[in-house]
Amino acid sequence: MDKKIVIVGAGVAGVNAATKLVDNGYPGNLITVIDMGKDPYKRKPEEVMTGFLGAGGWSDGKLTYHTAIGGQLSKYCGEEKAMELMDQVITNFKRFHPKPEEVQCSNPEEEPEFIKPYFGLRLFPVWHVGTDYLSEIAKNWYDYLVSKGVDFKWEAKVYAIDFENERVLGKFLDKENHELEYRYDELIFAVGKSGIDFAQQLANEYELPDEPKSVQIGVRFEAPQEHFQKLIDISYDFKLYRKFDDEGVSLRSFCTNNNAAYVAVEETYGDHSYNGHAKKDERYRNDMTNFGILMEINGIEDPFAWSRNVVSKLQANGTGLYYSPSRQPSTTSEGNNVTSTQISLDTLTHVVEPVIEGYFKYIMDFIQDMKKVFPTLQDDWGIYIPEVKYLSPEPLVNYKDLSLTKYFNVHFVGDALSARGITVSGAQAIYVAENLLKL
Ligand SMILES: Cc1cc2nc3c(=O)[nH]c(=O)nc-3n(C[C@H](O)[C@H](O)[C@H](O)COP(=O)(O)OP(=O)(O)OC[C@H]3O[C@@H](n4cnc5c(N)ncnc54)[C@H](O)[C@@H]3O)c2cc1C
Repeated sequence: MDKKIVIVGAGVAGVNAATKLVDNGYPGNLITVIDMGKDPYKRKPEEVMTGFLGAGGWSDGKLTYHTAIGGQLSKYCGEEKAMELMDQVITNFKRFHPKPEEVQCSNPEEEPEFIKPYFGLRLFPVWHVGTDYLSEIAKNWYDYLVSKGVDFKWEAKVYAIDFENERVLGKFLDKENHELEYRYDELIFAVGKSGIDFAQQLANEYELPDEPKSVQIGVRFEAPQEHFQKLIDISYDFKLYRKFDDEGVSLRSFCTNNNAAYVAVEETYGDHSYNGHAKKDERYRNDMTNFGILMEINGIEDPFAWSRNVVSKLQANGTGLYYSPSRQPSTTSEGNNVTSTQISLDTLTHVVEPVIEGYFKYIMDFIQDMKKVFPTLQDDWGIYIPEVKYLSPEPLVNYKDLSLTKYFNVHFVGDALSARGITVSGAQAIYVAENLLKL
């Protein structure tokens, strides 16, 4: 326990790694955590992605507890170990919670019979920390790590890492822009989504090999909520799925919004695609439901280039497309029409289908089968085309300690690796810390 450990990113992953280390007697003064955001006493609510606990610090505070949700974990360490690691993350959140007894677990019951013939329904437990408590949790957690001697560098942006000479280079984001330089024996790279460009820069610079990725593309489906109420009562954020293993395609409903549910236009690389969000305030209630129907397509050689090309072809009049057998595009929470170009069934069949290279039929089948499961739905729905997830490249790591295959003392964790949520990000980091404790 004499190695100098530098952690880049004080988000969910970085903080869980530091905690595991000091909990097990690792000297805090050998751990430096560098973050471009602020400590929890200074961090403002509008600083959504940066600072202590990172994106998790102002998140919805939902801790999912299933290895099929929130990104890759069991791939690296096996199912049993993954659950044990996620337990540790949940315990940490409870431990620094001002009212741990209020952390509740919702655990939906068995898959309902009416779904079974057509879809799988992914049911998983979720621990609700409570968004309002996250700030207090962060302060208690931070105080603990500081009391153990962990050295935090705030408002310091790392802009380069010299893997060969084991050095981290950064700048303090104050007026003077002071330079910062640290040597490390072991590096934990935990920059989350806000550091995605930086991760890409390193991947290019060091020609880091990455894991093959799938294409994730589909539509944003929208309908009046009443048609889905039977299922929403069982699982608010329901996840329907189906798989066609032989064809390398699987589909899932993604990110369900209810009650005050709005479709949002996203602009990426100059093209429009769709997403959804829900408002909490009752005055926005529109009794609509929206969710993505996303296909995961494996075996496409360059998924990123393929997706970008498809998205650019699914544009008309400078925006995305809308198809409905009976409805018009809905309005945003600000009362404007959701920007889209309405198309006919003919265009859907003869233009959209060939652009997505025949895969669109899976989405139409999904909708047809929803009509059987939710009989009142019939033609009372619409789809915004496309919805897309550009998956960031995932560097290839050694599964035993998440170290880069080219640099054994550099460990990638959290959203910078393959996670997409709090529990998995924290769990990956604890996994790395456990291995560092053995050195
Ligand atoms: C609005 C919102 C709500 C969410 N709600 C949930 C939820 O309810 N449940 C759930 O499981 N997940 C949720 N998520 C996702 C979850 O927050 C992330 O998956 C998780 O925080 C990832 O952890 P991480 O440590 O990898 O990255 P982060 O928590 O994002 O932390 C990364 C840290 O790295 C720092 N950083 C980045 N680049 C640099 C650099 N170059 N130099 C120095 N520092 C840098 C950032 O400042 C940041 O603090 C939500 C995300 C958002 C944005």
